[in-house]
Formats: sequence, C-alpha cells, structure tokens
Amino acid sequence: MKRVAIIGGGISGLTALHFLRQKHAEAFAVTLYEKDDRLGGTIGTDRDSGFISDWGPNGFLDKVPLTLRVVRELGLDNLLEPAAPGAEKRFIYRNNILNEISASPLKFLRSSLLSIPGRMRLLSEPFISQKKDERDESVFDFAVRRIGREAAENMIVPMVSGIFGGDARQLSLKACFPVMVEMEKNYGSLFKALIAKKRAGKKASAAGPSGRLTSFANGLYTLIEFMQNKYKDHIQTGTEVVGVDKNDTGYNLYFRQGRPEKYDAVICAAPAYAAVQIFSIMDGELGRLLSTFPYASISVVCSGYRREVIRHNLAGFGFLVPRNQGKRMLGSIWTSSIFKGRSPEGMVQFRSMVGGATDPEAIALSETELVKLVHDELKSIVGIENKPAYTRIFKYERGIPQFVLGHPDKMSRLERLLKSHPDLYFTGNAYEGVGLNDCVIRSDKVVNQLAKRAFTPAH
Ligand SMILES: Cc1cc2nc3c(=O)[nH]c(=O)nc-3n(C[C@H](O)[C@H](O)[C@H](O)COP(=O)(O)OP(=O)(O)OC[C@H]3O[C@@H](n4cnc5c(N)ncnc54)[C@H](O)[C@@H]3O)c2cc1C
Repeated sequence: MKRVAIIGGGISGLTALHFLRQKHAEAFAVTLYEKDDRLGGTIGTDRDSGFISDWGPNGFLDKVPLTLRVVRELGLDNLLEPAAPGAEKRFIYRNNILNEISASPLKFLRSSLLSIPGRMRLLSEPFISQKKDERDESVFDFAVRRIGREAAENMIVPMVSGIFGGDARQLSLKACFPVMVEMEKNYGSLFKALIAKKRAGKKASAAGPSGRLTSFANGLYTLIEFMQNKYKDHIQTGTEVVGVDKNDTGYNLYFRQGRPEKYDAVICAAPAYAAVQIFSIMDGELGRLLSTFPYASISVVCSGYRREVIRHNLAGFGFLVPRNQGKRMLGSIWTSSIFKGRSPEGMVQFRSMVGGATDPEAIALSETELVKLVHDELKSIVGIENKPAYTRIFKYERGIPQFVLGHPDKMSRLERLLKSHPDLYFTGNAYEGVGLNDCVIRSDKVVNQLAKRAFTPAH
C-alpha cells in the first residue's frame, strides 16, 4: 500500500480523502493532517437560540454532479435543502432603491437599474465586435467593452464582490469567468451565446448564477460533521505540518510537535499562503510562486430581527451594492427567505458582507463597529426600526483567493514546477476556482492524477 498524506482539513482536503477512500481504499493508506482542533476551514455553522448561521460559505450551487455524488455517497442526500423557489429574485441597490435584476429583456428594459442610455448600450452587445487577441483582460475591462461602463460599474462590479470579494479591475477574466471567454470566442457575443444555449435546451441565465444554492437543513457544517464521523480513523486534528522535504524514497512531513512521518505522496490542501511555509525549504521557487497568490479579507455579519420591525417584504435572495452608491457593505443575503428554519419563529436573519479587495481596511473594524455599520446600512436600505436581537460576526483576514491578472500564467508555472516533484499535488480554492464545487472538482482531479501515476507499471 502506498502511504498518502493530505495537509489541510477544509472541504478540499476532506473531499480528497473521500475520493481516495471511496475509489482506492485498497491501494492507499491515507492520513489527513489538520492544524486546528476542528475540521472545515472556512466552513462552519453556529446553532444558537434558534438561529443557524454559517461562518463562511452558506451553500453550493447544485449544478455540479460530482458534488451531489459526494453528498449521496455520504448518505446525506435526504438532508439537502435547496434554496426556496421564492428566493430567486435578486436585487442591486442603486439610486436609493433595490432594483430587481430580471432575466426577461422586457422587464429589464423597464427596470431603473440602468439609465436609458445604459440599457441601450447593454442591449447593443451583440453588435460589439469580438476581441481578436488571446491576451488576458480584467473582468471590468471585458464588461466595459461588451456591455458598457454603466452596466460594468453597477452590475458586474457588485457581482464580482459578491462572488470573490474581489475587485473587478484586478481580476482575470480568463481565470474567474473562463465561460465568458469561450462565449465571446465561439459566438461573438454573450447574448448570442445565451440564446444558442437556450435553444439547445441548456439552462442559461444572465440574471444570476446557473444552479440553485443548496445547503443542509442544519447548516453547511453538516457536510463536515458527516465526513469527520465517517473518516475519523484517517484524520489527525491539532496537527500542524510545518515542512516537507523529499528524498529518493518519498516525502518527509515535519510537524509543529511530534516525530516526522514518511509518505509516498502528498496532497497539499492548505491555503497557498500556508503552503509557502511548508514547501519553501524543499523548493524555493515553488515557495516564491505560492507567495504570489493574493487573498482578500472579508467579514460576515449575521444579524437577526423581529420580522415586524422590517418594512421590506424580503421576498428574494438579497441584494448587492455597487461600490459607487456610498455604502460600505458589499451586499446582504436574506438567509431566512432562502432557507427556512434559519431563525426562530417570527424572526428573520440577514447575512451581510463587508470588506473584500476594494475595502481592505474594513478588516480592522471591531465587532461593535461592524454590527453598527451593517445595521445602519440595512436600516436605510430595507427599513428597520429596532436594533438587531441577535448578531454573529465571522472575520477572515485571508478569506478568498484573488485570481488577479496573470493567474493563468502562474498556474502554468505551478504545473511546470510540480513536474520535478512527482507525487506532490496541490488542491484548494487558490488554483482553479473559489467555490465549493471548484474545490471538489480539483480534489477529484488530483486524486485521479495520483492514482494514474500509482497504477502506471513504471511506478
Ligand atoms: C466569507 C466567505 C463566504 C463564502 N461563500 C461561499 C459560498 O456561499 N459558496 C461557495 O461555494 N463558496 C463560498 N466561499 C468559498 C469557500 O468557502 C472556500 O473556497 C472553501 O471552503 C475553501 O476550502 P479549502 O479546503 O480549499 O480551504 P480552507 O477552508 O481554507 O481549508 C484549509 C485548511 O487547511 C488547514 N491548514 C492550514 N495550514 C495548515 C498546516 N500547516 N497544517 C495542517 N493544516 C493546515 C486550515 O486550518 C484549514 O482547515 C466563501 C468563502 C468565504 C471566506
């Protein structure tokens, strides 16, 4: 049996463990090392006084069969909770009102989200000529070029801060939205591509992400709890890996405490900034490359109110705020409209985001300041009379990796460097996608690579 070590017990490390146990239990002896006393990384759920509040992610989109397969294999499918159908409506706060983002062209034309020239410019997208070169471009530049500056500022900038906590002017289109690059390349226009997809019977929407947000009745941490329970014999929590080196017979792992351990293969599922420390001595160039993967800080503020003190009907998913509207929050999700049972009877829960790449100073705000900021802004946007009856704050100094311009080149360099370290693999949200689905897909990919190498006769 080959010995495999996994470093990091977030969703990436845990799904790598799952795939190794599920598909190759006979071939590999696996141990997962997690530095903290708990598993899950940014996934966590507080359950208190009838409120259920997710720390980081609050769900995944149900469009990736692999993730749903993992859930099924864990025996968790009966606990899945898709977002309520009424939660489909999404809003953007602009000019002091919440504007619904509608996928229907007629409704969109009537919406006041954009000025009339802004709407006309957006609708002229099919007539804008295609980009000729292959150079990477920022998400913002792409949006300005295709749908105009007003739509870029007021639709794309907030969408990017909602998904990545990112700055659309810095993020790489190729790395963040490869589908858009393909749509323009293959159809010459995003509208034409959406129409073609619709005709081919595929689900396509310009108003929100495809797929429905899905979680578990008792919060997202349910997934981690089940994995921990199922794989407890293969997991060591409270065990920080501080270094890895390599010799002719494999890899040695060094820990903050305890004796080193020898492994045939290593899957690193710790964040890129943690991997810098782990791998810099073994390969300085690899360490330097990993240190160039930036992260944005972000804070999540969960707040609960009595339903009757809120003017807005909260029928929908929530809203995003463009950076030019004089508000500091990036947006707010109406948790209790999306998932029932997230607040006690007669109460509602908001989940608001502050910070991200466009507001790095926000991480220094104290919990009291964050609660006040979010309450004051919610008050003016949805109309609230009283102070929140419940609050929970989750702060992440390095919360979400930023796929800035040049990310695709960094990924090519990483692949090249890893050629000289056979049986060393990197998974996690810093490489090919920041969503939970992306982490699951990447972990499956590295496990397949590992198995392929192990089962090739020369090895
Ligand atoms: C506020 C926020 C909201 C989000 N919302 C969503 C959402 O709604 N939907 C969605 O799909 N995604 C969302 N994401 C993204 C998603 O949560 C992450 O991409 C994903 O959870 C990352 O998982 P991971 O396992 O790659 O990394 P992590 O969760 O960071 O896990 C890495 C683990 O490695 C451990 N570790 C670090 N160093 C060492 C070491 N030296 N030795 C051993 N262990 C180590 C850490 O303690 C940690 O447990 C959100 C992220 C944030 C921050």
